[in-house]
Amino acid sequence: MRTFNITDPASLELVDHAPWSSAEDLERAVQESQSISRVWAKNRDARREAMRAAAADLRLNVGTLGAILTREQGKPLLEAETEFMTAAELLNYYADLEWDESTELPERSGRSVSVQQLPVGLVGAITPWNFPISLLGVKVAPALAAGCTVISKPAATTPLSTLAYAQVLQRHLPKGVLQVLTDPGREMSVAISEHPAIRKISFTGSTEVGVAMIQQAAPTMKRATLELGGNDPAIILEDADLEATAQGIVASAFRNAGQVCMAVKRVYVPQARLDDCIEAFTAAVGRLTVGHGLDATTTLGPLHHQNQLNRVRELVDRAVVDGGTVAIGGASTCDLPGYFWDPTIVSVPDPETPLVSEEQFGAALPIVGYADLHELIESLNADAFGLGASVWGADEERASAIAQHIEAGTVWINQHTVVEVDAPFGGWGHSGVGRERGRWGLESYLELRTINRRRLSQR
Ligand code: NAD
Repeated sequence: MRTFNITDPASLELVDHAPWSSAEDLERAVQESQSISRVWAKNRDARREAMRAAAADLRLNVGTLGAILTREQGKPLLEAETEFMTAAELLNYYADLEWDESTELPERSGRSVSVQQLPVGLVGAITPWNFPISLLGVKVAPALAAGCTVISKPAATTPLSTLAYAQVLQRHLPKGVLQVLTDPGREMSVAISEHPAIRKISFTGSTEVGVAMIQQAAPTMKRATLELGGNDPAIILEDADLEATAQGIVASAFRNAGQVCMAVKRVYVPQARLDDCIEAFTAAVGRLTVGHGLDATTTLGPLHHQNQLNRVRELVDRAVVDGGTVAIGGASTCDLPGYFWDPTIVSVPDPETPLVSEEQFGAALPIVGYADLHELIESLNADAFGLGASVWGADEERASAIAQHIEAGTVWINQHTVVEVDAPFGGWGHSGVGRERGRWGLESYLELRTINRRRLSQR
């Protein structure tokens, strides 16, 4: 079997080899899915039971699974284990979720009308490398609950954790319900998005690839859910406790080394409080410990690959050329050979510098002073992205009132990056199409059929 190498981003050592799936493997997977799909779609109780058993099995093996994810992705072990716990929580949530397979509409003269909700069919789940398991779990759990079958295609650099996750679930699912295909490039994703037997694409990744994905899926008229990029702002108000705010924002912005779609990626603070804010953020970042994700003391792992590291370095350098000042970080000082970047805070006078205006996706956070809150919100709403935003202040009512004016899929108050299993998550504008999580996440795996019956005789 052809394989490709997977490298540890912290040590640059070989972790393992992953199978290099071919076009024939895709055809085989589609056929296996088709041979089980009718039976699987019919028995909701069996699906629920299998999902709960799979969730328990994931929890039981979380230590081993987490270590596989840390080694190929780089994140601290606790964060890796949390991904598998999230995947288990999602399976249990969707196993328990009540929904009507058929709903009778109100009586009307001469006709009875019912609306059925049926599985959409075979789903292609295409995921990025930053959260390989929780972002797959948020697709697989509602898809299984709805009665769909799934072919998963992880990112080229993180296939091992996905294969391990699927192995656990496959112990409880009939053959063909969940399959994984892996390759080192984009061929398999393209083939999945174009395949006529695949009825829906659930994609998480960059906006650029999301656009390509819709184009590839259009000729076969696939349903599509797209979770795309973001450039989440955090808006600090005049009355915010800067120390607590800095700690909260740093916990969001530097989680997974800043490689989080919904992390705080830029901070806005009243101009008069800029210096105090930089001081508070510098202190909070100074408490992070950079190292290998398997080292128990590590709170910040490496960036995931060389391109990420190059991009973050270039954006910070450019922000300095544009008048910015590095308050802490701005270099790679870890003595491990991997893609390490010290957590960085940059005071930025020019809000147009790309470190602020683009999604940086790395451990570098720009802080910008603002003079007028109204103007700031107008300029943020004019952005193409609309994934998340947060407002930080002592007066919760005022912060909540300001949140009403922000155009984004999630607006947090005095926190950021917190997601709920039962609340919808997704983006406005270029941040995506559709929603995941909660009952909204289930609906996107259901197709509707209206049965409209004329009564031949009035009883
Ligand atoms: P990416 O878009 O480069 O890749 C995502 C997946 O698409 C990978 O599996 C890749 O192999 C595949 N792919 C690449 N080109 C393709 C093509 N032409 N057709 C089909 N598939 C293709 O994203 P990435 O770099 O792995 O992840 C980072 C991006 O993901 C960031 O922009 C981030 O904001 C976004 N993201 C969004 C969310 C969300 O929920 N909104 C969550 C996590 C990450």
